[in-house]
Amino acid sequence: MPERRPFVGGNWKMNTHASSAAALAQQVASGVGIDSGAEVAIFPPFVYLDRVGAALTKTGSHVALGAQNCFHEPDGAYTGEISLTMLKDIGVKTVLTGHSERRHALGESDELVGSKTAAVVNAGLLCLLCVGEQLEERKAGATDAVNERQLRAGLADVSAGSMEQLVIAYEPVWAIGTGLTATPQDAQAAHAQIRVVLEDLYDVSIASRVRVLYGGSVKPGNAGELFSAPDIDGGLIGGASLNAADFLAIVAAAGS
Ligand code: PEP
Repeated sequence: MPERRPFVGGNWKMNTHASSAAALAQQVASGVGIDSGAEVAIFPPFVYLDRVGAALTKTGSHVALGAQNCFHEPDGAYTGEISLTMLKDIGVKTVLTGHSERRHALGESDELVGSKTAAVVNAGLLCLLCVGEQLEERKAGATDAVNERQLRAGLADVSAGSMEQLVIAYEPVWAIGTGLTATPQDAQAAHAQIRVVLEDLYDVSIASRVRVLYGGSVKPGNAGELFSAPDIDGGLIGGASLNAADFLAIVAAAGS
């Protein structure tokens, strides 16, 4: 089985302020060394990307700057949107697509997520494509079917050669920000099934090399058990990423 370097992302969502964002970035950066077993990225709100990027550069950090969203068109009359060229200009290295809050609270379709995902990899950036089922879908036994539908649409225009730039985050919607977490066994089963879909879409080598993260109320207390499952390669962290000590404890759990 290929070595997959664990990845931990901190999704700050619509939280922090100008000064607290820079301070949090500095605290995280100072706790992640070059020898960290995990690759780490933080995803601040758009308006603080520049200042968080400056804080990361100042500390010579090993934490990558990430954006929570992007628009897929290169430029033009798209009021309020932000292009990948703009994000690259200010040092962004990685972008989230398909986060459940964008799918379900902000109405992004599977197809739009696919356009954004292709645009991120075509821009040469790392894309974290999020998939996951809602509670009703889980109760109906549709977890794997939902993940498969979102993967197929999300990766529709991503070639095999670009899959090095792709990380998948499995985030059951009912576990995000609720304090509920999938059991390591349930998460492992969903992750293994995601690899089956990747194998069908690409091949067995790609399916075994792509990192698949778990997200949904990961905390220092449950991270170790989740990350020890064979197909879980780290996590996408929301609430706990707003506290540097908690986030760094999760990074340590992923890297150990
Ligand atoms: C997320 O926002 O992707 C997330 C997993 O949030 P939380 O950790 O708060 O559940």
